[in-house]
Amino acid sequence: MSKILDVRDLHVSFHTYSGEVKAVRGVSFDVEKGQTLAIVGESGCGKSVTSQAIMKLILTPPGEYKHGEVLYNGKDLVKMSEKEMEQIRGKEIAMIFQDPMTSLNPTMTVGKQIVEGIIKHQKLSKAEAKEKAIEMLKLVGIPSPESRFTQYPHQFSGGMRQRAMIAIALSCNPNVLIADEPTTALDVTIQAQIMDLMKDLQARLGTSIILITHDLGVVAETADRVVVMYAGKVVESGTINEIFAEPRHPYTWGLMNSMPKLNQDRSEELSPIPGAPPDLLAPPKGCAFAARCKYAMKICQEVDPELTEHSKDHRVACWLEHPMAEAYRKEVVEGR
Ligand code: SF4
Ligand code: MG
Repeated sequence: MSKILDVRDLHVSFHTYSGEVKAVRGVSFDVEKGQTLAIVGESGCGKSVTSQAIMKLILTPPGEYKHGEVLYNGKDLVKMSEKEMEQIRGKEIAMIFQDPMTSLNPTMTVGKQIVEGIIKHQKLSKAEAKEKAIEMLKLVGIPSPESRFTQYPHQFSGGMRQRAMIAIALSCNPNVLIADEPTTALDVTIQAQIMDLMKDLQARLGTSIILITHDLGVVAETADRVVVMYAGKVVESGTINEIFAEPRHPYTWGLMNSMPKLNQDRSEELSPIPGAPPDLLAPPKGCAFAARCKYAMKICQEVDPELTEHSKDHRVACWLEHPMAEAYRKEVVEGR
């Protein structure tokens, strides 16, 4: 396996009236060719900002890349000019968003939007591009693609719009597809269809996928590897088996407990993690999860645990992993 994307120690901030919001605070992970990496965490954990940062969509100001690299096939995207990025965005790395209306142009037919992307990035004639666009609409499961081609986004249902956006994103055969909550707004059946579709395309085209979601059910079904983010940092990462069969971070345990079981009514019996993430205007000194963690020890309040290797592919940032954890735990017990 070889790495197509390698994010190294990425820091992104937003400057607001109240001060600097440190949205991403030293995130590292890599994506293998043809694999799916899921980034999970509650809203506000920095997963969307991370994905926008990869596409170099963090606008300055108020956004700022503070530090780090985003290596795509070994080249740092952070250092690229906007002109260079235009060659990468859409063609090499494409993105689909939660709300298709934000990325579809309401005044242009769906067909034309797909054709534009194809013409921009591939040397095809208009007629060839149209043919390819119709083929893409067919591929994403849009019925009667020829007549849909001339329709506007508002004439599509929510699920169809999502498919159209995927068609646009995939029409240039990107090497990397970033999907930010791609199915959250859709009903469960269509969600499943869209996820199947993405897997199918991946198998056929060898696309690498970064799937950003808070839905662990979707992750379990689609991802090869998982990155768990909390308060702008990676707290755990590993293969799908490691994260689901042997999660090691208390925050991941919390996420697992708030995951609906198969056949369980999604509105019932979930136990979300009590409390709220810290304010990233002033992140806490120690572990950012300490205020919500049942296992917090004295050291957790004082020193932020580093991401350390539990096994070859499995990394965890928690003091419970420390060989001295027993002693730390004692400290808590004796202090009481
Ligand atoms: Fe809980 Fe401490 Fe681990 Fe943070 S470092 S998750 S507070 S045990
Ligand atoms: Mg988000």
